[in-house]
Amino acid sequence: MGCQQSQVAPTIHPVFHSREDSDIYWLNLAFRDKSEQTIIRPHELESYLRDPPPQDVDRKLRNRILGSLIGLALGDALGAHVEFRPHQYMVEHPVTDLEGGGTWGLQKGQFTDDTSMALCLAISLIINCDFNLYDQLVRYKWWYKHGYMSSTGQCFDIGSSTRQAINEFERRQHQFAQKNEIRLEDLDLNTGEQIFQNFDVYCGKNDAAGNGALMRLAPVPLFFHRDAKTAVKYSGLSAKTTHGDQKVYDACRFYGALIVAAIRGESKENLLHRDFYEKHQDWFGTTPLHDDVKEIIAGSYKKENGYADGIKGKGYVIDSLKAALWAFWSDGDSFENGVLAAVNLGDDADTTAAIYGQLAGAYYGYKGIRSDWTKQIYAEKFIQCLSKWIVYQGEMWLQQKPSTVIPPKQKF
Ligand SMILES: [Mg+2]
Repeated sequence: MGCQQSQVAPTIHPVFHSREDSDIYWLNLAFRDKSEQTIIRPHELESYLRDPPPQDVDRKLRNRILGSLIGLALGDALGAHVEFRPHQYMVEHPVTDLEGGGTWGLQKGQFTDDTSMALCLAISLIINCDFNLYDQLVRYKWWYKHGYMSSTGQCFDIGSSTRQAINEFERRQHQFAQKNEIRLEDLDLNTGEQIFQNFDVYCGKNDAAGNGALMRLAPVPLFFHRDAKTAVKYSGLSAKTTHGDQKVYDACRFYGALIVAAIRGESKENLLHRDFYEKHQDWFGTTPLHDDVKEIIAGSYKKENGYADGIKGKGYVIDSLKAALWAFWSDGDSFENGVLAAVNLGDDADTTAAIYGQLAGAYYGYKGIRSDWTKQIYAEKFIQCLSKWIVYQGEMWLQQKPSTVIPPKQKF
């Protein structure tokens, strides 16, 4: 299924003309009008899609990578219209299918911040063919300010820690421009340049312990899965641009490791085994996981009675991790069962389901997800094309292994 499109595309006004000649220029910020008022939305970009160069694509791998991205978007879209509804409401009005309206008044299949941020992260990895935290923040800022990668063209759903971090990033950009005599308008350009390696990218507050980094995580383990140690390290670091709490860092390291293991075809029994951390110790380096994450690995989410036994779809990262794993553990080998169980916990329904979808989608694969649902996801062709680029560029990264400079991490 090629993603080359033949229909006539509307004129677009890319902000960064220097990148226009590449196969993936369409992944950068672009507007419909010269006055830069109306952004080009993901479904409109479907007219510009280009496949990566021909190669022998490992179909199994592609099925899992696409499954994880689509699983994330589908969980988000299934839960969006009931976001913030308490559990009791869900007991009385359980979600059984994709629906529009509700909390955000979206159309059926449209997604929220979880997927928009994950797409920003995926695109950053693809365009840079590397892990560039500064560039990741630039794209989150585009989403916040211009609606880049939004399903509606606007940023309408943003967590408080993420908002604070992006505002802080912008403040630091201004300071950085003054200090280094760079024009403000050039700060989002050529983000791979050496000067940006001196930028303090850790904009998350030390006590920011929400689920806003875990909800967007998947592209990191999907891109770096061939090198598990790097995948786990970058999974943790990807959180720290917006969330500085160690529990977030470690929840993302652990969940990144699970997604890598799922892509590699490990059994569910192995993934959910209490010895998973010990058995993959070499993936985690020398910094031990936080005790609250270790408790989850030991099986604190394995509760037959779900919500009644303390499983909650709340915004705190430990609650979210626990809830997503509970849904995976109890789904009876059905993505549909698990994603609906995650949504029907209530509260932060879209995010619990998006977190579940990242792992379950990698495990069951795209083909294991209901096709009548996947077809309805907003900009599904665009996400399909991105997943091909993740497979292709991830392999390129492995062959070239750039000597990425990561700014020193904060001490906990
Ligand atoms: Mg959301």
